[in-house]
Amino acid sequence: MRIILLGPPGSGKGTQGDLIQEKYRFPKISTGDLLRQAVKERTPLGQKAEIIMRSGELVDDKIVIRILQQRVFFDDCQRGYVLDGFPRTVPQAKALEKMDSRHRDIAVFIHLGDQAVIDRLEKRRICSECGTIYNLFVKKPKRSDICDMCGDSLYQRDDDKPEIIQERLRVYRAQTEALLDYYQEREVFHKINGERKIEAVFNDICSVLDREISKFNESKVLL
Ligand code: AMP
Repeated sequence: MRIILLGPPGSGKGTQGDLIQEKYRFPKISTGDLLRQAVKERTPLGQKAEIIMRSGELVDDKIVIRILQQRVFFDDCQRGYVLDGFPRTVPQAKALEKMDSRHRDIAVFIHLGDQAVIDRLEKRRICSECGTIYNLFVKKPKRSDICDMCGDSLYQRDDDKPEIIQERLRVYRAQTEALLDYYQEREVFHKINGERKIEAVFNDICSVLDREISKFNESKVLL
């Protein structure tokens, strides 16, 4: 099973992806994290991506597809995986199907209005060591600048600054939103209300996944 998390920036894809990973043992793959890692390591690919990421635009399809291709054939992806932040364009969705046809897709769209996106992203903080995601309103760390999990410092992403958030929303509408129709047409689409507490959103996602897993198991028995 391949779980594709869709939704605007700040809709909680990363947080929900972590929870799915923990409960269902599907590894979470975030192309944003893979790119940020490449930037940190100053790889040639990271150097190309850095300026684009800072501006809130999308990194070239070819680069992201290449980065993902290097990850999805690791052993831990044999049963499936959760994608956070990929695909972001229809050509990426098509490339994904071509690259790895082992899994059945389930697309989960976490819906969130623009104002909620802005409020959330401005308050998002991330641990520079373990990557744990916090929100100064709804998922507060004990100290605003220190990670509860590992004690390292928290930072605000460059692209979570107000002027870049607007650009990311524009890019989302222009390039990513078309994926909602794409997956709806394939009848693998599930919409979840993301303007609620993390646990409530996760409960709804679990209902979808449990239903899909049992449907899949039943179809295996019939074969
Ligand atoms: P994220 O952490 O998912 O919000 O991604 C941060 C930034 O990385 C985005 O604003 C893009 O610049 C880049 N990025 C991540 N995933 C993709 C993707 N699938 N396609 C293009 N650019 C991406």
